[in-house]
Amino acid sequence: MNISNKVERLIRPEIRASRAYAVPEATGMIKLDAMENPYPWPPEVKQAWLEMLREVQVNRYPDPDPRRLKELLRAEMGTPVGTELLLGNGSDELIQIVLLALARPDAFVLAPVPTFVMYEVIANAVGMRFVGVPLDQDFALDLPAMREALRRHSPVVTFIAYPNNPSGNLFAADAIESLIAATAGLVVIDEAYFAFADISFMDRLNRFDNLLVLRTLSKIGLAGLRLGMLFGADAWLREFNKVRLPYNINSLTQASVELVLRKHEFITEQVKRIRAERQRLFAALGNLPGVKPWPSETNFLLFRVPKAGHVYDALLASGVLVKNLEAADKALTGCLRVTVGTPQENTVFLHTLERVLAS
Ligand code: PMP
Repeated sequence: MNISNKVERLIRPEIRASRAYAVPEATGMIKLDAMENPYPWPPEVKQAWLEMLREVQVNRYPDPDPRRLKELLRAEMGTPVGTELLLGNGSDELIQIVLLALARPDAFVLAPVPTFVMYEVIANAVGMRFVGVPLDQDFALDLPAMREALRRHSPVVTFIAYPNNPSGNLFAADAIESLIAATAGLVVIDEAYFAFADISFMDRLNRFDNLLVLRTLSKIGLAGLRLGMLFGADAWLREFNKVRLPYNINSLTQASVELVLRKHEFITEQVKRIRAERQRLFAALGNLPGVKPWPSETNFLLFRVPKAGHVYDALLASGVLVKNLEAADKALTGCLRVTVGTPQENTVFLHTLERVLAS
């Protein structure tokens, strides 16, 4: 028996050619690679949470359609009347659900690039074709190129991260609107970083019937719970719901999110601190010789350094984990991305970077 022959014969070539999503070992590190909120919950919230968890019946399947939680999320997220909500195991799963429902062998998925990699990864995994349209040198939308790509490929869906990862900026809203109006496909505005930008396409959901808004609780402090939200017209979400696995949001997540959202003031406070630190970090990076940070509306900063690979390795060796984007896209040559941590973490990162650059 030769297993590799069988694998080759049975597994689709695009899967064999792809790589699993790599997550670096982070034990004991100052972890600034994944846009997590660095702050813990206040002790009284944690206590109430532990008491509540005792009552969760994990011998039963979770609620397949947690209406009370969904109502709470709709209120928290400022959802317009007349739009529906679908929950996912992180927004990653919702991207997968949308693409599973749209997948046809010759259907195109479009996004400006560089952007969040999972649009392309999942498009490939479900057998669709991904087209990335390069952003301009300031990471703004290249509107003529986007229009041309829409005309050429008639994508079934266009993903626009707003603000964008990894560049951290917001694209011009009127440019996005003109693309939504110009395409016959769906447009998903991915607002993973909405809390740090204070700007949204949510109130345009009633104006465009091909618009969907995607959000997540990951970046505001609940990454481990895995809860994403897709907002849009019931006519779309009803179809996507058929692709969703029945119990995709586990009982602990449902109960925990409900409890935490009712005590959300501390999250608002933490987001405020992260935004203040973002400004400090941006200014400090800009003052380091040879370092160019880009302004950001998120909880991370993209910055360019001389010899990025060496700087990444030296930071890692000193216990600071950031994201190396050197190889991700030609527009990202020399680029690293750092998540805004606590003031102490940011200070250690800055001092370490300064030392590495001087060596
Ligand atoms: N969208 C964007 C733009 C992101 O940057 C991320 C996380 N890196 C996600 C979606 C996925 O978030 P999650 O699956 O944790 O909800």
